[in-house]
Amino acid sequence: MTEIFIPPIKLGMSNICTSEELSALRGEWRDQGLKVGFTCGAFDLLHAGHVDYLQTARTMCDRLIVAVNSDESVRSYKNPLRPIVKQEFRMSVIAALRCVDAVTLMTETRPASLIELLRPDIYIKGGDYQVSQLKSAPLVEAYGGACAVIPVNHEISTSAIVKRIQELSLYASPEKPAQGLKGPLVLLDRDGTLIENSHFLRDPSKVRLLEGVGDGLRTLQNAGFSLAVITNQQGMGLGYFDYESFVAVNSEMLRQLAPYGIQIARFYFCPHSLAEQCECRKPGTAMIERALADFHCQRENCFVIGDALSDVQAAEAAGCTGILLSSNPPAGTGRSAQSFCAAVEQIKSSQVIAN
Ligand SMILES: [Zn+2]
Repeated sequence: MTEIFIPPIKLGMSNICTSEELSALRGEWRDQGLKVGFTCGAFDLLHAGHVDYLQTARTMCDRLIVAVNSDESVRSYKNPLRPIVKQEFRMSVIAALRCVDAVTLMTETRPASLIELLRPDIYIKGGDYQVSQLKSAPLVEAYGGACAVIPVNHEISTSAIVKRIQELSLYASPEKPAQGLKGPLVLLDRDGTLIENSHFLRDPSKVRLLEGVGDGLRTLQNAGFSLAVITNQQGMGLGYFDYESFVAVNSEMLRQLAPYGIQIARFYFCPHSLAEQCECRKPGTAMIERALADFHCQRENCFVIGDALSDVQAAEAAGCTGILLSSNPPAGTGRSAQSFCAAVEQIKSSQVIAN
């Protein structure tokens, strides 16, 4: 039997460099009289727009260096839920492109220190602005470098791809008929209402269903209500946990609800900190408005159960009915219930108008 030796291939890894390695490489290219271009970005879910951009950038130089934003830097400048793809994978995809000569990780949100280190002959940026608007332009021009802006192709974007996937997810299962969501609707706060309140809960092993929740949700479901969660998750915005941990906690909750046959149709969450002053954080109404639209639900047919005043305030501001879980509700609260089961009974006995 002949044994064939196949050398291990590290796809696209050879041109991924540390900043020190890149600095040395840049020196070699300088000695060879090659024009070096530099650009940077997140390159999350690489698409044709990115490829087009990088190919155009490469036509402006002899060697193209791409600095890929670290996961941490993407989170801090774009969105706490981004990137979708981890930095090492984003780097390896970029490194495999023929138009890219070297890739490095950019841990800062701005490229100033890498530009300082590498002194590229041309600094290239994608966007809809003038070269004079580039923040790094003075830095580049100071050592005699040039800047260029490549216009963005708006036909395709990572955000549009993500949106498309989210739309598809409703219809993803062939077992389920491809139909939309429908009211009447009960929106449920999560922490302190469905599961035990735990400070910045991120550990699925700490998920405990509260008393009466399984039976209560089943009663609502049998009465024809759709169920969805609306939850403030400030811990995400503050960096205590990430999207994956949030999803893991939800999955554990769903696992514990499975014996009751409960279907939570949607999770709406606010990932922002108080300081971000968003419109989704309860008592803001954006999550409720979104749910009303998704479920084609009239306001009169939407109920909110929560253990915080902000839950009830959000419900009332949106024209829905809020029920505060409290054994000692503050005066003027509106509707309240001593227990989850009592809240369920209140909703069951409410008049629901046919959609
Ligand atoms: Zn928010």
